[in-house]
Amino acid sequence: MKSLLISCVLLSITTLSFAQRSCGSTEYARRMNYDLSYNQANTGQTSLTSRDTFANEIITIPVVIHILYNNPTQNISDAQVMSQLRVLNEDFRRLNADASQTPEVFKSSAADCRIMFCLAQVNPRGAAQKGIVRKFTNRTSFSVDDDMKFSAAGGDDAWDTKKYLNIWVCNMQSNSIGYATPPNSEAERDGVVIQYDCFGTVGTVRYPFNKGRTATHEIAHWMGISHIWGDNSCGSDGIDDTPRQSNYNNNCPSFPKLSSCSPNANGDMFMNFMDYTNDACMNMFTNGQKQKMRNVFSGTGYRNSFLKSYACDSSLATAAPAVTEPVKQEKPEPSVVIYPNPVQEQMQLMPVNGYDLKGKIVSIFTPSGVLINTRKLNASTDKIDVSTLKQGVYVVKIGDNNERKVLKLIKN
Ligand code: ZN
Ligand code: CA
Repeated sequence: MKSLLISCVLLSITTLSFAQRSCGSTEYARRMNYDLSYNQANTGQTSLTSRDTFANEIITIPVVIHILYNNPTQNISDAQVMSQLRVLNEDFRRLNADASQTPEVFKSSAADCRIMFCLAQVNPRGAAQKGIVRKFTNRTSFSVDDDMKFSAAGGDDAWDTKKYLNIWVCNMQSNSIGYATPPNSEAERDGVVIQYDCFGTVGTVRYPFNKGRTATHEIAHWMGISHIWGDNSCGSDGIDDTPRQSNYNNNCPSFPKLSSCSPNANGDMFMNFMDYTNDACMNMFTNGQKQKMRNVFSGTGYRNSFLKSYACDSSLATAAPAVTEPVKQEKPEPSVVIYPNPVQEQMQLMPVNGYDLKGKIVSIFTPSGVLINTRKLNASTDKIDVSTLKQGVYVVKIGDNNERKVLKLIKN
């Protein structure tokens, strides 16, 4: 009874904390030793072949969405994906309906960033392919460690991160509902991760992260923007027109919300996309944030290559065959591995991708085909005693017909 009570308390604490925004970008950047408050002046890149941004041109970023699902709910619909793209194209163009909610005193700071997003129509091989990749994963959840970005770890490898903004949508185990790499990260890790029920405005989304602002926030990190409180008590985000504030805000304060380091009576800019308020409470980037974001696309910026990415124009697809539907990756084939291998005393068979071991016949042969030992597994955890085998290589056959697996065993 006592442990049940403790479980209930823990559960309610978890549920409560989960209703508050928590972004993993700062924790991630610290662990990876990346500079989250990325400074354009320090890029040191030359730009002989890259072009600069034209003043205030619209920058369009091709996007690929990797949907990693362990159950059908997590396999979010195309409609949910498109609802997120719509939000991004509103928020970064200040076309969001709730722009009208920006307090009067901050309206002159609010910016149309003139950045847009399109679903990729051409894949990295040059073939026509819509930028939604659906993939079953054995992973029931992921943490802020980039596993979702690597097929070998149960995720999905990035498309060329110099040409595509990669967004992985998956189930995060911690209470972080998303994280982003800053502009100067390693190429194969570059992109944004979003919790599957905090993405878009329809389908699986849950309050208060049901207006697509988690992706708006994380993509701004991806363009070098810091949290508005500078991740420190009264810290600086390096942007002049975002007022200093003592800490992040949760939920939705009422305006004006003064904190210990407020420069004037206007208080915190808690409606900025880089605070921690509810989706419905956020509605603006500032001119200073816009300038910093656009700088990463300039001739010396880390994201300059996006000005020459035409992956949203399917007429430029060259490679055949054309695939207009997203590539559906089926559940991977069940298999089995021997553990440990090499083995001395007892070996165990470990199922992979849901292979069912119970009731299977296991036979051990010499390489020349002489049967040494055969038995039926009563449970998938059964161990097989091989202590009497001589040192050498053996062949292990498990099951028969379509489900038959043949493995190599090394006896030490
Ligand atoms: Zn953040
Ligand atoms: Ca500031």
